[in-house]
Amino acid sequence: MKAVVVGAGVFGASSARALALRDWDVTLVEQYTPGTVRSASGGDTRLLRAAHGNVDWYAELAMRAREQWIALQEETGVHIFEPVGVAWFAQRANGFEAMSRTALERLGIPHEWLKPDDARSLFPSLSTDDLEAVLYEPDAGVLHARRATQLLVEDAERRGATLEIGHPTPRDAPEADIVVWACGAWLPALFPEQVELTLSRRDVFFFGADGAWRGTPGFCDYDAMFYGHGEIAGLGVKVAPDFAGASLDPDTLDRIPLESRAADARDYAAKRFPSLADAPIVGGRVCQYTLTGDTHFLVAPHPENPGWWIVGGGSGHGFKHGPALGDYVADCVEGKREPESFHALGERTGDAGLRTASVG
Ligand SMILES: Cc1cc2nc3c(=O)[nH]c(=O)nc-3n(C[C@H](O)[C@H](O)[C@H](O)COP(=O)(O)OP(=O)(O)OC[C@H]3O[C@@H](n4cnc5c(N)ncnc54)[C@H](O)[C@@H]3O)c2cc1C
Repeated sequence: MKAVVVGAGVFGASSARALALRDWDVTLVEQYTPGTVRSASGGDTRLLRAAHGNVDWYAELAMRAREQWIALQEETGVHIFEPVGVAWFAQRANGFEAMSRTALERLGIPHEWLKPDDARSLFPSLSTDDLEAVLYEPDAGVLHARRATQLLVEDAERRGATLEIGHPTPRDAPEADIVVWACGAWLPALFPEQVELTLSRRDVFFFGADGAWRGTPGFCDYDAMFYGHGEIAGLGVKVAPDFAGASLDPDTLDRIPLESRAADARDYAAKRFPSLADAPIVGGRVCQYTLTGDTHFLVAPHPENPGWWIVGGGSGHGFKHGPALGDYVADCVEGKREPESFHALGERTGDAGLRTASVG
């Protein structure tokens, strides 16, 4: 059976690899190059965490993916996962972190609920005045995203898949038993009738810190709408504002970070991590979220073309799930299971709040 997967971001690369592992004849088609910085998967780093409020489906998917990322790292000898943990700064006793804590308890996923004073030792400096608690996930960490995406593609090729550079569209569609359209931010333009997604700009900053920041945990400040991690691979300390951003064209955007967002990152860094108050910004990236209305992903058969699947809507939290999501897509494609109803096409109401920020 022949499958063509269009798009070599983490969703497409993982789907192609999962199908190749099941002995499908797989072609993976990418318009630029796997891990292009125009893609959401082409960022330097992405957090891997299990906490997803009260939505167990993603917590379990993340933990399955974690095992698979580590296995891929061990099989290939390419370092892609930093097991540094992730700390959630809880400004409320009954917010997203408390909901996540209950879910992690229920699912048996390791976590600690720390008093603010006890969390201070996690970072070289941490201001906890406004915190009720810190939810710490010791098994969480940070993925080297661009490299991990490329590694998935390389591994898919080792398993027999073929990578082609090309730009198929629904009007000029590949011939195959199955076509998986995993086209990230390009999906709404390719499928204007079927796919409703909001593209939203995000600016990410790296601060030059001293060596004490090496190996410190990732962090999420859900109510303040910031996230990041400590010094990793010489990139610096990541501090990323997670406020709603303007829409954009992923092909033509000049990816130069905004000074206003840099100022937001500086203010936050100084407040939350006082020793970073005078740290210079040593790097920046601009990327796009591809948001569904409720932050659940999109994994659905095309309503008119049998054999076509639409996979995307990563909604700012898709990366970590890559390999496990690939298995889920392959199971759906092979008819071994139905896709979840919350991944269907069509209008989405409500907001499951699955990103690392409360709104936006
Ligand atoms: C700033 C930022 C921070 C994030 N932080 C995290 C995080 O900490 N943790 C986490 O888990 N997730 C995070 N995410 C989300 C995560 O990165 C995305 O959900 C995920 O990468 C989406 O992958 P994708 O494969 O759907 O899309 P993409 O990575 O965008 O890949 C789509 C690919 O399809 C290709 N393509 C499109 N159309 C065509 C065509 N017609 N023909 C050929 N190729 C085509 C594109 O060139 C691209 O390479 C973050 C995202 C951003 C932007």
